[in-house]
Amino acid sequence: MRPGIDLAGKRVLVVGLARTGLVTSLFCAGYGATVTATDERPESELAETASKLRAAGVKFEPGGHVSKSFLNQDLIVVSPGVPAKLPALEAARAHGIPVWSEIELAWRFLRGKLIAITGSNGKTTTTSLVAHILKTAAIPVMVGGNIGTPLLALVENSMDTTVTVAEISSFQLETIEKFRPEIGVLLNLTPDHLDRHISFEEYAAAKMRMFENQIERDIAILNADDPEITRRMPSKPHIFWFSRQKRVAAGAFLRDGQIFFRNEGSEVALARRDEITLRGEHNVENVLAACSAAFLAGADPGAIANGVKSFKGVEHRLEFVAEIAGVQFYNDSKATNVDAAVKAIEAFPGPLIVILGGKDKGSPYTPLRELLRDRARMAILVGAAAEKIAEDLGDSLPVTNAGTLDRAVQIAAERAQSGDTVLLAPACASFDQFENYEHRGRSFKELVAGLEDHNKSAAGASAQKG
Ligand code: ADP
Repeated sequence: MRPGIDLAGKRVLVVGLARTGLVTSLFCAGYGATVTATDERPESELAETASKLRAAGVKFEPGGHVSKSFLNQDLIVVSPGVPAKLPALEAARAHGIPVWSEIELAWRFLRGKLIAITGSNGKTTTTSLVAHILKTAAIPVMVGGNIGTPLLALVENSMDTTVTVAEISSFQLETIEKFRPEIGVLLNLTPDHLDRHISFEEYAAAKMRMFENQIERDIAILNADDPEITRRMPSKPHIFWFSRQKRVAAGAFLRDGQIFFRNEGSEVALARRDEITLRGEHNVENVLAACSAAFLAGADPGAIANGVKSFKGVEHRLEFVAEIAGVQFYNDSKATNVDAAVKAIEAFPGPLIVILGGKDKGSPYTPLRELLRDRARMAILVGAAAEKIAEDLGDSLPVTNAGTLDRAVQIAAERAQSGDTVLLAPACASFDQFENYEHRGRSFKELVAGLEDHNKSAAGASAQKG
């Protein structure tokens, strides 16, 4: 049994009013709480949210945080975008007021089984694949968390037979209390968000909180090839490993081109490696993790094989855009950190032209050096991090600072030769020039479509001449 919470009559403060904060405010108000909702942004930027909140009887405090409001509460719920160490939150904690992330609250209300997926990279891909496999297996499934729909918005439709697959970020895990998924998956641990977490240790510790409340009958699915994970192994849950490199005692591994799952000495074949439609070795890891989670949640091997075969990937993740004059264009706008960019580049033998840059997140770009030297014809840089990237890449390959993405795509098209691949894998956040990585990816696709149109009309003109 999960420890529910009776919200009726409770004073609840919701901090941060993007999508999650709005859903949380309305949810708590709906359950009879006296809700105050606050955001740093002024009311002028939150007009629509404000009217929805007021209609639900929520007290709305835009334009900054009123310290007093943080102390007169029974519960504070923070959105993933709000720093857990905000001084007003620390003050509330000091007064004994619980500060929870939305996933803590949602977990107490959700019915059915929860598969929670975290890691530095691959969360969305793996979450989508697990959900796709479960659907293929005709298991009632819902998807949410960091991937789009807040978990609280799924509560109403959850049943005891539902499996909820949730993408969970380190920020959400920082402010849990008893959150305890029946199945927790940790894909990998590499430096990310070091602009917000003080250190890698702190970041890794936040990720490991996924398992801190699990008990013996719960399941942890962990990457056996990641030394940062093996040395932090949780002690309580039943552990299954996945590995691309070796056979594991319990969990998923590869043999003779097949994915096998091993448990208590017996093995079952789940899918064929050559039927994975996603590019790159990193995606083999995601598939191994997803197959394990789906199998342990009750999907049968046949459905798992079919699910893996029919999964087409997720937009902005090594997404094929177009082939123009023998040059292939790929959009990996979601490669918002260095490790993801490394994995994206590794997925292509070359020759590559790689577009990098955006808003720096505090990690060095030196891990890209050798890889780019070996596989790329050139690197084209954009955005605020361009100078730092150029410095870190040194003279390993020709580097051009294009400034903007449209200029970068132009330069790439001019320099690329038939057989090359142009890859957008920024290794940076997008917020210096774009609203988010989706906006950046869509812009890239539009620019490539523009090249295509230009190419077609040029071909048309020369055919007319001929
Ligand atoms: P997340 O939700 O964790 O950001 P995504 O599935 O959206 O993960 O993928 C983000 C980026 O990380 C993609 O651009 C992809 O190239 C890279 N990536 C995906 N899976 C992995 C993995 N298992 N290991 C390393 N990089 C990965």
